[in-house]
Amino acid sequence: MSVKVCKFGGTSMADGNVVANVKKIIDSDKERRFVVVSAPGKRYSGDVKVTDLLYACFEELRNTGTCADAFKAVRARFTDIAKQLGLKLDINSVLDETQKRIDEEKSEDFTASRGEYLSARVVAEYLGAEFIDAEDVIFFKEDGTLDGGKSYKAIADAVNGAEKAVFPGFYGTGADGRVKTFSRGGSDITGAVVARAVNASLYENWTDVSGFLACDPRIVDSPKSIRQLSYKELRELSYMGANVLHSESIFPVRKANIPIQIKNTFRPEDEGTTIVPTSRYVPSGGTVTGIAGKKNFTVIFIEKSLMNAEIGFVRKVLSVIEQESVPVEHIPSGIDTMSLVIESGALAHYKLERILEGIKNAVEPDIIRVIENIALIATVGHGMSSLVGTSARLFNAIASADINIKMIDQGSSELNIVVGVKNDDYEKCIKAVYAEFFGK
Ligand code: ADP
Ligand code: ASP
Ligand code: MG
Repeated sequence: MSVKVCKFGGTSMADGNVVANVKKIIDSDKERRFVVVSAPGKRYSGDVKVTDLLYACFEELRNTGTCADAFKAVRARFTDIAKQLGLKLDINSVLDETQKRIDEEKSEDFTASRGEYLSARVVAEYLGAEFIDAEDVIFFKEDGTLDGGKSYKAIADAVNGAEKAVFPGFYGTGADGRVKTFSRGGSDITGAVVARAVNASLYENWTDVSGFLACDPRIVDSPKSIRQLSYKELRELSYMGANVLHSESIFPVRKANIPIQIKNTFRPEDEGTTIVPTSRYVPSGGTVTGIAGKKNFTVIFIEKSLMNAEIGFVRKVLSVIEQESVPVEHIPSGIDTMSLVIESGALAHYKLERILEGIKNAVEPDIIRVIENIALIATVGHGMSSLVGTSARLFNAIASADINIKMIDQGSSELNIVVGVKNDDYEKCIKAVYAEFFGK
C-alpha cells in the first residue's frame, strides 16, 4: 500500500480544537501514516507563535541563567492544548523536564526546537501513534547542510514496524552531536525528508490557506489559487518570498519524483495546489503562474568602459565578495555595466564598506554606486518564455502605477523576470502586476 506523509504547520497546531480537526483528517485516509508537526502557531492575529516564545526564553536564559519566567507562556499553551484534548499524558512533567533541559543545554537552537518536540509528543499521544524524535533521525553535516543519506536511512529504520508515527519538524542533530534547527519555517523540510525516506506516494503539506496562491494574500485580497505548479516554479516563487512552503523543502522530494500537495486544514475539501516534476507539468494556459517578492536588498552598480573585454573582471569582483562570505542573489549585467544584488542584512558590520573598497582596488571602475532599500519582485511562469511581449506588459503595468524600476533581471531559465523597486513601492508593485496578469 502506498503511504502519504502529512506535515501540519503552526496554525494547524494552534489549539486543541484545531488538533482535533487534524486527527479527523489523518483518520479519514489510511495512507496518512507518517505525520510531521510544527510548533503551535498564532491562534488569532496578534498572538505569539510558540517558536517566538521560545526564542524569548533563550534571551532570558542568556541574561539571567534561567528561562523560568518566559517559559510560563510556553507551559500555558501546551497545558491548554493537552486539557482541550483530554490527554492522559502528564504534560506538566514533560514540561518540567523540557524546562530543565533548556536551562542545562544553554543553546538557542535547542531552546527553539522544543515547540516542535512538545507538539509531536502531544499529537503522538492523541493519535495513539509512535513518537519518533527528530534528534535521532535527522542529521546535519559539518557544513550545516542536511545529511540526506544518513537521515533517510535512520528514518526508514525507525518507522520499520510502526503503523503510524509522528515526528517533530524543524530540528535534528548537528555534526557536533547537539540539537540544531533548520532556518525558520523548516518543518516543511523535515516533512520532505520523511517523505523521501519512506518513499511516500505524496507529501501533503497542510497549512492555513487553500494552496499556493498567485501572490501573497496579505497584499492582494483573495488572490487566485494555483492548481498545479512545477518544482521549478515552486523553487522560484518560494525562494523569492512566497513562504507558504520553505524553499529548500523541494530538494529531497524532487530527486524521488514525489509530488507535494498543499492543503488547507480548515477547508480540507478544497482542492489545494499540487506540485509536480516539470516533465509531468500541465500548463494552466495562463502566462504568469505567480508573483512573489522580498524587501531589503542593496544593489551595487558598477560601470567601466570595455568591461566586457577585460578578462577576469567578473571573477575579480566576485572574489572580493567571496572574501567577505556574502551571498549574491542576482547579477544583472550589460555591456559595460554590472550590478550585484545582495540582501542588505548580509552587509552589516562594515562589510559593504570593505566590499566597495575591495572592488575599487581590484577593478578600478569608472563608476560604483550603491542603491539601498530595494525590494525584488519575481513574476514567474512557464508560460512566460513562449509569449513575446510579456515583459512589455509587465513593465507597462509597473510604469502605469507610477513606480520606478531600479533594476531588471531576466534569468536565463526564461521562467521569471525579477524587477527591483523601492521598498516603499513593494506592495503597490505586486498589486499592479497581479492586476495586469490576473485581473482585479
Ligand atoms: P505553516 O505554519 O502552515 O507552515 P506559514 O505561515 O509558514 O504556514 O505559511 C502559510 C502562509 O503563507 C499563509 O497564511 C500566507 O499568509 C503566506 N503566504 C505568502 N505568500 C503566499 C502565497 N503565494 N500563497 C499562499 N500563502 C502565502
Ligand atoms: N516553528 C518553526 C518556525 O516558526 C518551524 C516551522 O514552523 O516550520 O519557524
Ligand atoms: Mg511554514
